[in-house]
Amino acid sequence: MKTLIAGPCSAESYEQLETIAKQFKEKEIDIKYFRAGVWKPRTNPGTFEGMGEDALKWLKKLKNNYNLKICTEVASKEHVRLAFLYDVDALWIGARTTSNPFLVQEIAEAIAENNKDITVMIKNPMHPELSLWVGAFNRFENMGINNLKAIHRGFKLYNGGKYRNEPLWQQVVDFKLARPETEIIVDPSHISGNRKLVKEVVQLATNFDIQSFMVETHNNPDSALSDASQQVTPTFLKELVTHVKNKQTKKLSLDQQYEKLISCERSKIQTLDRLLLDILNQRMNVSKNIGEIKKDYNVTIFQKEYFNTLLNTQKENAKQLGLDENFTDELMKLIHTYSVKVQNEK
Ligand code: PEP
Ligand code: MN
Repeated sequence: MKTLIAGPCSAESYEQLETIAKQFKEKEIDIKYFRAGVWKPRTNPGTFEGMGEDALKWLKKLKNNYNLKICTEVASKEHVRLAFLYDVDALWIGARTTSNPFLVQEIAEAIAENNKDITVMIKNPMHPELSLWVGAFNRFENMGINNLKAIHRGFKLYNGGKYRNEPLWQQVVDFKLARPETEIIVDPSHISGNRKLVKEVVQLATNFDIQSFMVETHNNPDSALSDASQQVTPTFLKELVTHVKNKQTKKLSLDQQYEKLISCERSKIQTLDRLLLDILNQRMNVSKNIGEIKKDYNVTIFQKEYFNTLLNTQKENAKQLGLDENFTDELMKLIHTYSVKVQNEK
């Protein structure tokens, strides 16, 4: 592995951090940074929001006692001030923060005032907008901060699929094209949201030539105060590291090279098919609602003129996208047939 960052989602107590660090040492898991969230950006108020400055004191103690490098998330200039006060070695910008250029600017300025050489890892924004992600890198570079890495943590989509945050691997490919020199670290924990899927995400990432990972690791994941379902144990992490290492050392035969290329494209297709189904499902649900409205107002289900307008609009859209018109025609008719069926069943 090129870079391994591991540690709990949140710092909960000094004992918790120490237990995890001890297990890393015992199992000879070689981490570049020990991670722990200190201020947690939670979706809903009233949930665990991190231990703040106390947790920074624990992290500093851990760093000194275990000779580790530590990293944490900063989301404001005050966080930056405190992180430097407690000798944090690297900082990361969370997905919610990357989405906000005002905050990114404020943080970049605060870091530049302290130490321009510190490593800053920028997570992708919540939604797939490549220019916003790349824009955050530009803001740091404009302030003279050049030790930057990217963290791919997936994207929150309107309707959840298999993963908590869809990996949309095409975004990784596009990011690499936009910033070929920047190291990309994959965060399988926030992508999967489920420890059973962590290995699978790591495997997919290696197909895209990614060798750097940030993995949320807890001594007792089920009891974690945040992100309990996605955290793994140090034992699990050790197996994961060994697996990636074994994969790396094997020189690829032609068959394996083919397999790797094809599985990259297949993982993109799988994500897209899943999204297609989600959208079709949403459409069917809207159809059902329309069926009920028609029933309530005694209107016939099949409305030829309306359907023709709908079809022509979509064929026009297809043309603009460069999609085959006949394909669109057949597809829309098929979808419509099943919509009418669903409405008749009401
Ligand atoms: C985290 O790393 O704990 C975190 C909050 O991540 P994200 O910003 O990716 O949601
Ligand atoms: Mn987390």
